[in-house]
Amino acid sequence: MSVVTPLKLYNTLSREREVFAPLDPDNVRLYVCGPTVYDLAHIGNARPLIVFDALYRLLREKYGPDHVTYVRNITDVDDKINARAAERGITIRELTEETNRVFQEDVAALNCLEPNVQPRATEHIAEMIAIIEQLIAKGHAYAADGHVLFDVPSMPDYGALSRRPLEDMIAGARVDVAPYKKGEMDFVLWKPSKEGEPGWDSPWGRGRPGWHIECSAMSHKHLGEVFDIHGGGIDLVFPHHENEIAQTRCAFGHDVMAKVWMHNGFLQVEGEKMSKSLGNFITIHELLHTDKFGGKAWKGEVLRLAMMRSHYRQPIDWTVKALEEAEKTLSRWYGVLRAHGLKAADTAQAPLRAAFVEALCDDLNIPRAMAELHALASKAEPRDSDSQTTKAEAEKLARAASLLGLLQDDPTTWAQRAPEVDVDVTEVEKLVAERLAARKARNFSESDRLRDVLAEMGVKLKDGKDKATGEPTTEWEVA
Ligand code: AMP
Ligand code: ZN
Repeated sequence: MSVVTPLKLYNTLSREREVFAPLDPDNVRLYVCGPTVYDLAHIGNARPLIVFDALYRLLREKYGPDHVTYVRNITDVDDKINARAAERGITIRELTEETNRVFQEDVAALNCLEPNVQPRATEHIAEMIAIIEQLIAKGHAYAADGHVLFDVPSMPDYGALSRRPLEDMIAGARVDVAPYKKGEMDFVLWKPSKEGEPGWDSPWGRGRPGWHIECSAMSHKHLGEVFDIHGGGIDLVFPHHENEIAQTRCAFGHDVMAKVWMHNGFLQVEGEKMSKSLGNFITIHELLHTDKFGGKAWKGEVLRLAMMRSHYRQPIDWTVKALEEAEKTLSRWYGVLRAHGLKAADTAQAPLRAAFVEALCDDLNIPRAMAELHALASKAEPRDSDSQTTKAEAEKLARAASLLGLLQDDPTTWAQRAPEVDVDVTEVEKLVAERLAARKARNFSESDRLRDVLAEMGVKLKDGKDKATGEPTTEWEVA
């Protein structure tokens, strides 16, 4: 273990920086809310992926790689998923599989390690039902009209994480007025499914879970009733995390669900949160595979480094300039390694600078740690007079950068290998589906128009007929 410095983390629950003491140093347990797989992840979503990957790497360094369990779930049941699959004319399974596949490629390109477990909500329905039954048995939930609701007034300290005034929480919950609710703030644990909607048999009829219960069930199954750290973006504090806490604590009877709650700040565009609903988003996929931003496709590592220029709790602005600067820095650092004939993988034994470790252990102060990397890079510039000393500095640079998931590529090819620009698969599939719908509706002028749009994108179409049904079909390829 090379990190003996105490690790301090800001805990949203206490609003204080606390010295982190794991419940069990042999198994430090971290849960982070993962994606809802209805659409591609945007670069705002990339922020928690990178922040908590850096934390995971630091915990592995401090407690040993086999002594940390990182769980990041996949939400594959959600009304947005149903709506999007219907819109695109594909099955829910096809949509969630396709979205998850691209998500996994995106996070790998960002140099994020795979979590130990990536549980899927649809594979934990029995566990969700079991927790809901416990909550009913303990008087914290009630069934009404095919729904099951969490009885918020049954938990005296509901709201301790977000510390929102009661009136605010009530006003927020009012959006969801429903006749089956006893209290205004009560939230859904289970709801009935109509014909055609995904559903599972339950003691309350065929239905599906609410969003919050998914994370309570998956974190319980993989990390236990109480675990060390729970993370996510700041927008999840209320209501999602507040409700996860309510469910888990009331089901299992502990004072806390997770000891430390960590939240990253927003990635912003002109002062506003990047989000699907505001429409101001850029997907990770298009940044990596198209030249729409700054005229080129970017390597994932460049986005990773650009994301590290602000402290994780501060907001950060999206700019192409930040990518350009990050790329310049990486070129310089890789150049240093190249000059010394080094690869990061060969430097695992190099010492870590105390100031670098201290910065990371100070509530993950990566910008401060970055200053140490710059200092090392300057000292590592090869000089004929003293190549051994500069090589040792370069080894330290690579070792420290590795701890942040940087400089993992081959220094000899990094500069030459430009990322491939390809077509935006999601966009193409959307247009192909629209064109197929137009053909089925015998709207041939629209179908020809879409053929032209696709041709412009370099996509060639092959129309056919399904042998069994006689329905029109279309296959596509990049010309
Ligand atoms: P969602 O798919 O909206 O549930 O988001 C997945 C994760 O990304 C959650 O942890 C969110 O808090 C986080 N997130 C969403 N938008 C942003 C943003 N603009 N900046 C930082 N984190 C975000
Ligand atoms: Zn969650």
